[in-house]
Amino acid sequence: MSGVTPVGTPVAALLAEGPTVSFEFFPPRSEEASATLRTTIAELAPLEPSFVSVTYGAGGSTRELTHRLVVDLLADGINPVAHLTAVEHTVEELTDIVTGYRDAGVRNVLALRGDPPAGVDEPLRAVEHAIDLVHLVRGIVGEGSSVAVAAHPEGHPASPSVAEDRRHLAAKLEAADYAVTQFFFAAEDYLRLVEDLAALDCHRPVLPGIMPVTNLAQIERFAALSGATFPAWLAERLRAVGDDPAAVRAVGVEAATELCAELMDAGAPGLHFYTLNRSTATREVAANLGLDDSTGPMASAADTNQ
Ligand SMILES: Cc1cc2nc3c(=O)[nH]c(=O)nc-3n(C[C@H](O)[C@H](O)[C@H](O)COP(=O)(O)OP(=O)(O)OC[C@H]3O[C@@H](n4cnc5c(N)ncnc54)[C@H](O)[C@@H]3O)c2cc1C
Repeated sequence: MSGVTPVGTPVAALLAEGPTVSFEFFPPRSEEASATLRTTIAELAPLEPSFVSVTYGAGGSTRELTHRLVVDLLADGINPVAHLTAVEHTVEELTDIVTGYRDAGVRNVLALRGDPPAGVDEPLRAVEHAIDLVHLVRGIVGEGSSVAVAAHPEGHPASPSVAEDRRHLAAKLEAADYAVTQFFFAAEDYLRLVEDLAALDCHRPVLPGIMPVTNLAQIERFAALSGATFPAWLAERLRAVGDDPAAVRAVGVEAATELCAELMDAGAPGLHFYTLNRSTATREVAANLGLDDSTGPMASAADTNQ
């Protein structure tokens, strides 16, 4: 990517300057997948992302792969955010991982509890909740770094109530710098989350996570896993175009464009795209929004904020 955002810039500093655009990648597990990701990164470069985030396999299943991709991105002049999950790690392991990032010049970590890997009934929870990992990371990375947390607009699926989840979220977000949400399809879900946090006197930036739909079956599976509601109106719009993959994608891109435009109009601090390591849908949404043009809405919003 062009490297317009200096590598190692804390995301909190970028958010303070104006709306951000960012992408999530997962670490590739094969040469072929690595090649796909390299192409994706090159194709997304013109959008000049503020940062890109790299997922972590809960339990440490991608410990080395995540670290390698984060450090490679940094070396390529791209500002990385390293995801880290606490479950199934000792405090010493988590300390080693975060220290390794700090020493490599990584200034951004997304601190997560994570879910136990399949088949692990009694996972190690040396660091029990995400807020505890936020404190651990903060103690290592110190000033000049940003720590992010995850937010679930419709409430975390295992939470007894949305209200209880909001209270825990407000507490962990106050200990962190900003949040990134799980994907969702209705702007009201995001706006309600931000309102609820404000009512709890938490005013930290919350970046909405956007997943353009390119495949109906896949997105329904993801939504079921993450607890996101897949709205009937969107399913209907997608089913109406039948089995034609290009038409499904076009509807998905149109719906994501409408969602992003609503979020930006409502003052969202940026847009975080779940790319699934592909660039096309994200580029199409960005082009529709004018984000591929330095005079587009993100640029004007940033100018207004100055
Ligand atoms: C933006 C984003 C990125 C993600 N990236 C990854 C990734 O890279 N790898 C991965 O494996 N997973 C990832 N996840 C999924 C995440 O690990 C799961 O959603 C997990 O179930 C919860 O993690 P958390 O950090 O939100 O946990 P927490 O904030 O700890 O919350 C988990 C549950 O515990 C409750 N809770 C929180 N604090 C307390 C407390 N003090 N007392 C009692 N209850 C409490 C919450 O209400 C919630 O129900 C991501 C999710 C999001 C939204």
